[in-house]
Amino acid sequence: MPSYAATVTEIEELAPSVVQITVAFGDETFSFEPGQWVNFRFPDGISRVYTIASAPHRTQAVQLCVRVGSGRGGKALTQLDAGAPVTIEGPYGDFLLPENDGRPLIFMAGDTGIAPVRSIVLSMLANHDPRSVCVLYEPDQRNILYAADFDPLARDGAIRHESGKIETLIARNRKLIPAATVMVAGFDPFIDRVVDSLRENAIDTTNMISETFGVMP
Ligand SMILES: Cc1cc2nc3c(=O)[nH]c(=O)nc-3n(C[C@H](O)[C@H](O)[C@H](O)COP(=O)(O)OP(=O)(O)OC[C@H]3O[C@@H](n4cnc5c(N)ncnc54)[C@H](O)[C@@H]3O)c2cc1C
Repeated sequence: MPSYAATVTEIEELAPSVVQITVAFGDETFSFEPGQWVNFRFPDGISRVYTIASAPHRTQAVQLCVRVGSGRGGKALTQLDAGAPVTIEGPYGDFLLPENDGRPLIFMAGDTGIAPVRSIVLSMLANHDPRSVCVLYEPDQRNILYAADFDPLARDGAIRHESGKIETLIARNRKLIPAATVMVAGFDPFIDRVVDSLRENAIDTTNMISETFGVMP
């Protein structure tokens, strides 16, 4: 898989223990499908997997939205500064928007699981995708990540964006979910709760498209 020399150009705190890292690629052309992830190799050589939060029409740089955990990756993040040389390997992953089958899209994201959803939704809007979009988001605490993107879109009626406990949001939308394509992203406990909640509402989970970030850091 291709490997790209890149530079961290900005590290922005989006919420307590959540950072957005912007990585620029110099002259190399990096391309990806919205929803994909990369292997991010820190200057000291260790690597962690992070999903691209920005849309693919921005080709010179990508944004990653990362919860700073207590493990080695989290430690490497706290030592990372703007200007650091890093290596990006990838892209990988198949958390991809299905072909337009006319079905509305319902995204469910927990915490930094909003990263691939942001990339996909921004890309759909840029491509004038005609499907309706609903984002059901469970924030950590009350920190709605990327509210500055989603709030104006929801106000304009371009998308629906609801936040709160995922079980409440699923119950509220239970009549709409069976007719939609459902895409779910987040850490393991969130994915498990989504599956349990869908089943409690007698909604079939067979065709659900999901991306798990693994154990909660
Ligand atoms: C497909 C995918 C996409 C992800 N996207 C995001 C995202 O967009 N935002 C986000 O906040 N988190 C994301 N994660 C989670 C992220 O990769 C880390 O697992 C998380 O940040 C915890 O890392 P840590 O270093 O703090 O914890 P650690 O405790 O150091 O790591 C967690 C566990 O994973 C193991 N591990 C993780 N990565 C590696 C690796 N590359 N090599 C060897 N061992 C490894 C560690 O040994 C440990 O057992 C994603 C995970 C996956 C699988």
